[in-house]
Amino acid sequence: MKFKEALEFWSVLIIKLFGMAALFGVVGYSFNQPILGMFVIGFIINFVLGVSVTYYFNYKHEKLVAEQNRAILDYQSKKTAKVQCAYCHAENIVPIDLSNTKFICPRCKKQNRLIAEFTAAQITVPQSTDDMIGRAVQN
Ligand SMILES: [Zn+2]
Repeated sequence: MKFKEALEFWSVLIIKLFGMAALFGVVGYSFNQPILGMFVIGFIINFVLGVSVTYYFNYKHEKLVAEQNRAILDYQSKKTAKVQCAYCHAENIVPIDLSNTKFICPRCKKQNRLIAEFTAAQITVPQSTDDMIGRAVQN
């Protein structure tokens, strides 16, 4: 699949490039310019333009992805939990980071272990109104 996509991408690119170059050649020829020279000029112009435009958009895309990743990390680092120290019972505000389950209490300097617990409320809804009517009739 990866190879097929790459093949498609490159064949479209080459067809476009040669198509534009041929167009340059034909237009140049109609203005009494040498067809091969115009073809070569068209090829070079489109190649340079294509490469720089692709490079520019890739650069912009990478920058955007990096910004989004930074924003996600920033958001995650702001999530905190209020926990009591197991030794001195001082309130601590600890960042929630599942890769780090330990924190040192700033008051007594002892290491605490965090046990993360997740609870969720489950709400169920009928899949369709027919189910609801069927159940109401049955009951
Ligand atoms: Zn403590």
